[in-house]
Amino acid sequence: MHAAILAVQGGNTMKIAVFDTKPYDRPGFEALGEKKGIQFKFLEPKLSEDTVELARGFDGVCIFVNDTANAAVIDKLHEMGVKVIALRCAGFNNVDIKHCFGKIHVVRVPAYSPYAVAEHAMALLLTSIRRIHKAYIRSRDFNFSLNGFTGFDLYGKTVGVIGTGKIGRVFIDICRGFGMKVIAYDKFPAKDSGIEYVSLDDLYRRSDIISLHCPLTEETDHMIDADAIRRMKKGVVIINTSRGALIDTDALVEGIKDRQVGAACLDVYEEESDIFFEDNSGHIMEDDTLARLISMPNVIVTSHQAFLTEEALGNIAETTVDNLLEFFEGGACKNELCYRCGKVDECCKNRQEKCF
Ligand code: NAD
Repeated sequence: MHAAILAVQGGNTMKIAVFDTKPYDRPGFEALGEKKGIQFKFLEPKLSEDTVELARGFDGVCIFVNDTANAAVIDKLHEMGVKVIALRCAGFNNVDIKHCFGKIHVVRVPAYSPYAVAEHAMALLLTSIRRIHKAYIRSRDFNFSLNGFTGFDLYGKTVGVIGTGKIGRVFIDICRGFGMKVIAYDKFPAKDSGIEYVSLDDLYRRSDIISLHCPLTEETDHMIDADAIRRMKKGVVIINTSRGALIDTDALVEGIKDRQVGAACLDVYEEESDIFFEDNSGHIMEDDTLARLISMPNVIVTSHQAFLTEEALGNIAETTVDNLLEFFEGGACKNELCYRCGKVDECCKNRQEKCF
């Protein structure tokens, strides 16, 4: 067992409650936990105000994209003596970061496989425009008709990439491999990247395909709304493998009905948290917007699965365990989030110290 942890924990093994666990999450965490002296307790419920009590007696909680760490949850965790929230994902829009400052530390996995997500975005695009999802069903029924399957070449088409971070850049490389013209928008354009940055307006106007790879923030919430869709090229294909709320889904549905949007490839959905990752096949779908989307022949929905590769799962477990070890050793954790505490001159994070 890790000696530093024994010291920090007063001889006890570090105990971490893993919320929203699925069978594919367990093997990586179990193997590493045993090796590094961390005891993971795998829980099925998502973290929320209703379930936070399950974290009592644990040193930390490990959460994923649809768990909720709002102010009430954070206060409760703090009161119970939970010291760390370890996100086993990159995005952290589900955590009230500012509220965590001074109470509970938050670490994340900033990158586990940008390839997994970017390749899934391309898989969705190809499936959609070549009607593979329809062809698969037809040929299983021995229907070998090609009617209605006419697609279009990606070669020579313009793709607009919003967000040119780790995933966006891999997606750009993939698109270039297909002979596509790439234009991009990023709030913080990367210097000397060889990427052609344009304004959002230009990107909307010129792109045959638009792929979203920016984080969900107050600024990007519903950035793809009715107005944005109106400014896009008629027949545009929209891909979202980032976060559901980047798109105003009602506006998207209207855009598709008006034939302004030619196709939508969605790995994320703004109301996904109670639906995705679960088998709802035996239930009546209560969410009319999602039901409408799924009913459309030019919409493909996957259940937030872009991250799900062996490589990504291995890296997620490894980085999460490293984050926890680093944190409990008492030093600053390089993957601790910035709490936006406002202390510009005395920023501990810049000095590579623990924020509090
Ligand atoms: P990243 O931090 O490397 O890149 C994000 C990019 O977005 C940065 O270049 C940043 O400058 C840019 N950005 C920030 N604010 C912006 C704005 N207002 N407008 C335009 N661009 C803006 O992140 P990443 O690893 O490339 O991940 C991107 C997103 O993908 C994550 O935020 C996460 O929500 C999502 N994601 C989804 C899955 C999945 O399984 N579907 C898996 C991992 C990540």
